[in-house]
Amino acid sequence: MLNDMESAIAFIEKQDTEVISRIKNAWSSAFEEASKILLSPEKLRIEYNPAIWRISRHPVGIRMVSSIWGRYFIFEFASPNLVLSFDCFPSEEAKTGVMLHEIAHLIDDRRWGFDLLKLIADSSDYVTREQRAELLSFASYPLGIFEANRALIVSTLKKLGYSQDVPGDYLGPLAAVETLGRIGLNRRDDLIRFYGEVETHFPVHKVLEEYLSTNVFSLAGLVTAPDLNTCNDFGIKKSGDLALARAWLCKYLREEIDIRELEEKLDKISYSVKHDSYNPVSSMDFVHLDLKLAEENRKEALRAFADYSHWKSFADLQNAIEEIDAWLKFISNEG
Ligand SMILES: [Zn+2]
Repeated sequence: MLNDMESAIAFIEKQDTEVISRIKNAWSSAFEEASKILLSPEKLRIEYNPAIWRISRHPVGIRMVSSIWGRYFIFEFASPNLVLSFDCFPSEEAKTGVMLHEIAHLIDDRRWGFDLLKLIADSSDYVTREQRAELLSFASYPLGIFEANRALIVSTLKKLGYSQDVPGDYLGPLAAVETLGRIGLNRRDDLIRFYGEVETHFPVHKVLEEYLSTNVFSLAGLVTAPDLNTCNDFGIKKSGDLALARAWLCKYLREEIDIRELEEKLDKISYSVKHDSYNPVSSMDFVHLDLKLAEENRKEALRAFADYSHWKSFADLQNAIEEIDAWLKFISNEG
């Protein structure tokens, strides 16, 4: 059911209130489903609010509200609306993946003692808070996170006016590459070459430029704890640098600079997506995870990704799951 404000907003956005109400219910079910895998420290209220996309390009978001009855959290979804006339995360899997990501934020923020000001400072300067939430939710339900990233690419294509099957076989690998960047685990794939190859079939730089989320994470470094934010050893961590890296990659794809110039520029901002003696998973807290359900989900994802493992990015995703499995086995033996 929509409240009066949501109904009014739906009217202004020229949306069918029945449709928005159905989507709101689907987000509620996704939260219930996600809470079974990753125990949420807070209940979430769900609301429709297209302004979060109009103002800050967030297709979904979470907001803390303080009232005389105490503090509570609202999960907001922005689509469909007047500009994006479709649900950006249409499948149940993608919605559950998004909800797991939001729960993971609540857990991670508590772990590192983030109050509101610390949280705003950290997340506006660095991408690692975002990566830690994505990695914890990926460990919970890899296919949900993969689907959420795929949905963002498909929605960007829709907004650009392309039919979703334009990139053909490249949609899956693009989602895999973006998922790897968002979870901040090791990548063996040569991403510059990969994007160059996609560009010969389809103007992928347009997707990178118009991406329906604040950042494109494919060139981001490895996930770390907040105290390593300023360390250059683990690749790009600053949001400003990540935006630069994306802009340069697009210039290369548009043939405005050559590969040597691109690589030099990326080197200067410590571009790296691999580190042999550092395990990114070690910065995570898995105590809220239902280990059994999560393990089943990871097994299911390993099977699904195996069908595409001729793509290096999918082989990297399989590797990511194996790294998480090995770490969880290691800490359960320790404890
Ligand atoms: Zn987030």
